Amino acid sequence: MRLGDFELTPLSDGGFRLDGGAMFGVVPKPLWERRAPADEKNRISLGMRPLLVRTATERILIDAGCGDKMSAKDAGIYGFDRALNLEHSLAAAGLSAADIDVVIASHLHFDHAGGFTAVVDGQIRPRFPNARYKIRRGEYEDATHPHERNRASYFTENYVPLVEAGVVDFIEGDGEVRPGVSVWRTGGHTRHHQLIKIESGGRTAVFTGDLMPTAAHVDEPWIMAYDLYPMDTLAFKRAFVREAIAGEYVIFFEHDPVMAAGVIREEAGKKRVEPVSV
Ligand SMILES: [Zn+2]
Repeated sequence: MRLGDFELTPLSDGGFRLDGGAMFGVVPKPLWERRAPADEKNRISLGMRPLLVRTATERILIDAGCGDKMSAKDAGIYGFDRALNLEHSLAAAGLSAADIDVVIASHLHFDHAGGFTAVVDGQIRPRFPNARYKIRRGEYEDATHPHERNRASYFTENYVPLVEAGVVDFIEGDGEVRPGVSVWRTGGHTRHHQLIKIESGGRTAVFTGDLMPTAAHVDEPWIMAYDLYPMDTLAFKRAFVREAIAGEYVIFFEHDPVMAAGVIREEAGKKRVEPVSV
């Protein structure tokens, strides 16, 4: 879709499955399974949708899916289906990995940052050879010092080789990282998780990452059990959803299996997400 000076294209690195209970936190299963049916292992289908942001002169990629380095065992646990992956959807947009100028990370969990690196000649290297990678410094610090609760999501092979290759620009705080493209720390999911805002021509689009991974997560109490600081997620989301409704923001849902983007509407106190064709 066109947003002022930007062309926004949701890409796909395929799909995977996560425990439905963990995806919806305190929400009981009879409620969430109406929105997201579970398989025999209680897992629900999710997409991985990095966002391509193009201007006349620059190609920016926000997150990059899980990539190809996952072991067969992990691929089975998470039910990865990557027959169609980021390589294909970049090609469908007329691009290859070498065309990407900037990569921005919402955070460094494997389903967002796994695609940042790839095995080249037996070595793990930056997947996008001509790109600068923009990573929030606090997130990098946490991702290189994992603890028992987040260790399963952080794999250093996804980001340490980028720093070793000298291609990372650390983000120190909120604000613009490219003209019209800014980052805002949400906290909640991880301490330094950030959303990415694109503003042009009086319109705003937001890549919410794991703040609202699917359209079902727009309702305030629908918060993932994976979140390290769920009350911070709630506080941020409460304010953000009001702002998004008032500003008619186009929200890009990174993990929604069906809806790539939508606008949040409120009628008689009830929220709904109106899909936007992209
Ligand atoms: Zn995450």
